[in-house]
Amino acid sequence: MRIIIIGAGPGGYETAAEAASRGIEVVLVQDGPLGGTCLNEGCIPTKALCAMDAPDQTRKAEIIAQLQGGVAQLLRNKLITIVPGRARLAGPRSVEVDGQVYEADAVIIATGSVSASLPIPGADQTLDSAAMLNLDHVPGKLCVIGGGVIGLEFASIYRKFGSEVTVLEFCPNILPKFDVDLSKRLKASLAKRGITIETSARVTAVDNGTVRWTKAEKDFSVQADCVLMAVGRRPNLASLNLDDLGIRYTPRGIEVDSDFQTSVPGIYAIGDITGGMMLAHVATAQGRRALNHICGQGDGIDFSVVPAAVFTVPEVATVGKTEEECAGMDIAVGKANYRANGKAVASGQADGWCKVLAGKADGRILGVHIMGAHASDIIHEAAVLVAFGATTKNARDIIHAHPTLSEVLYAAIPNV
Ligand code: NAD
Repeated sequence: MRIIIIGAGPGGYETAAEAASRGIEVVLVQDGPLGGTCLNEGCIPTKALCAMDAPDQTRKAEIIAQLQGGVAQLLRNKLITIVPGRARLAGPRSVEVDGQVYEADAVIIATGSVSASLPIPGADQTLDSAAMLNLDHVPGKLCVIGGGVIGLEFASIYRKFGSEVTVLEFCPNILPKFDVDLSKRLKASLAKRGITIETSARVTAVDNGTVRWTKAEKDFSVQADCVLMAVGRRPNLASLNLDDLGIRYTPRGIEVDSDFQTSVPGIYAIGDITGGMMLAHVATAQGRRALNHICGQGDGIDFSVVPAAVFTVPEVATVGKTEEECAGMDIAVGKANYRANGKAVASGQADGWCKVLAGKADGRILGVHIMGAHASDIIHEAAVLVAFGATTKNARDIIHAHPTLSEVLYAAIPNV
């Protein structure tokens, strides 16, 4: 069997490696460096900056190069052919790259997403996240448009570097899709660290370092040396030739079924291009599901249980349902603070909190929301509990090592 994968981000390259390990021949088409947005201008360079006290472009480039080497190594397999260039679908089972046509039994589109912007005057004076990662100086005043994941990660990074940071968020809460309690606690914690956050703020223009916005019909402005536009990302649909093939899509992404097959049998789409949860690990999991379908195999991947982490200071992480999503259900809510945790206090990381939601009738753990040091690691225990349908009793029966931050999760389990 042979498949063509378009795009070598975490969706495409992980699926290529997995396919080759199953004895499938892979043509992997990549326009740009291996690793896609995640490795080159997303997850990894931001985490590199998170670990620095001042922007160090040399160190950032070394980290990316080292990990690109790792991806190249993963793909070093006689069954995988990497074709550099931009792919265009030429038929239901064929793809053209620079005039050369490749045929296969199935095609997987994994071309990711690009930064979105606002249709406001002066939008061209703002930086997107990719440009922001290449800044070699620390702006005195940074204004971030959008209090979502990207906006808040950069706000935290540049606050640590010494910038005066203002975040302008359109919705009533930052991280609008997250648990509201979690979002409010994060806002308070970021404010304590000196980040100014305005919610329900509609940005109207950027004018040579002045960002204008309105709130409750009043006009405001803030001065900035640098303005980051972080209002979401949109699927990278350009030049794929979807219309000629009759592949159904909207501006929000390519339509797929539960096996990530598009409206044209044999053509699959995974990751940001489908417009769902734009997360590297979701793209990888979707690739695995698509590959299983191509191979005629089933799997038990539960796409309703997706751990997500935001690398602010402090970190936040979440899995399962938010309290708002549990509206109308009879639930018990348990909470615990980092300041009551020995390891957190001893290590000077006492700013944090954890909330566990469980069904009152059956005790099943439905959702876990954490703000605090190492939230992005602790969340995986919660993911296991939610994925396996564990009850609060099951969770309380698990001995937790002392003294660890994981005890915060244990302490937050409600008594039902
Ligand atoms: P996002 O959707 O998380 O946040 C965009 C924010 O901009 C939202 O809060 C939205 O309400 C706000 N916004 C929209 N229009 C606005 C306006 N006119 N004025 C002010 N605010 C406005 O998108 P993002 O932060 O750009 O990230 C893009 C994608 O990348 C997301 O899907 C995100 O999950 C993903 N991502 C994930 C991680 C991570 O998991 N750690 C890191 C970076 C990006």
